[in-house]
Amino acid sequence: MRFTGKKVFVTGASRGIGKAIALAFKSEGALVTGTRTSAHTTQDNTCHEWVVADFTQLAQIKSCAEYLKQSEVDVLVNCAGINKISPFVDIKTDDFQSVQQVNLLAPFLLCQAVVPSMVRKRWGRIVNISSIWGKISKKHRASYSASKFALDGMTLSLAAEHSADGILANCLAPGFIDTELTRRVLGQSGIDELVSQVPIQRLGQPEEVARLVLWLASEENSYVSGQNLALDGGFTRV
Ligand code: NAP
Repeated sequence: MRFTGKKVFVTGASRGIGKAIALAFKSEGALVTGTRTSAHTTQDNTCHEWVVADFTQLAQIKSCAEYLKQSEVDVLVNCAGINKISPFVDIKTDDFQSVQQVNLLAPFLLCQAVVPSMVRKRWGRIVNISSIWGKISKKHRASYSASKFALDGMTLSLAAEHSADGILANCLAPGFIDTELTRRVLGQSGIDELVSQVPIQRLGQPEEVARLVLWLASEENSYVSGQNLALDGGFTRV
C-alpha cells in the first residue's frame, strides 16, 4: 500500500497499459483519476473518478489541464497515445499534427498544470509513457517517433529544472506489449515473428509496465530522474 493517501492521475486509463497502471495504483491505496475519450454507458471501476477528454481537441486538453490545476495530484502518468503508421511521403499534415498533439502537446500541458502544486509540496512524480520508437525508429513511424523522441526531450528539460524541487520526472519506453491492440494489429503470426527478435522471447505484459511505473512514482525512487527507461525484454540493446 505504497500510495495510500496519494492522488494519482493517469491518462488513457480505459484500456491496455494505462488501465493496468491505474489498477495497480488503486490496488496500492491511491486515489486514482483516469482519462478516456468518451463517457461509458457501462460501469468501469478501474478508477475512482473519470475525466472525459479527447486530446485531438485542444480545448479538451486545456480543460483537462484546468481540472489538474485544481487537483493537487502527487503523481501524473501520461499514458494516452496514438500511432499512425504511414510511408514517409504519404503522411498527411493533419495526421502528423494530431499525433504530436495527443502524444506530446497533451503531456506537456498536463505537466505544466501539475508542476506548481508539486513545487509547493516539494514532492511529485511524473512518468511519461514513451516507446522504444522514441529511442530507435523504423520505417513508417515518422509521426510516432517524432512525438516520442520529443516527449523524452520535454521530460528531460522538466527534470533538469525541477528535480531539485522534489519532482522526479522520467519516461518509460515499453517494447512490444501484449495489449488487445497489439494482438489485433499483428495477429499470431506477426507476434511470433516479432518475439523471435526479442531476447526474452515473449511479449511484455501491461502489468510489467505498471510495476515499473509504480516504482518510479514511489518514495522508493529517490534518485532516478530525467531517464528514459526501456522495458523491452532487451530488444533495443541487441
Ligand atoms: P491502447 O490500448 O490503444 O489505449 C490507448 C488509451 O489512450 C486509451 O485509454 C484511449 O482511450 C486513450 N486515447 C486514445 N486516443 C486518445 C485521444 N485522442 N485522446 C485522449 N486519449 C486517447 O494503447 P496502449 O497500447 O495501452 O498504449 C498506451 C501507451 O503506451 C501509448 O502512449 C503508446 O504509445 C505506448 N506504447 C504502447 C506499446 C504497446 O505495445 N502497446 C508499446 C510502446 C509504447 P479510449 O479507450 O477512450 O479510446
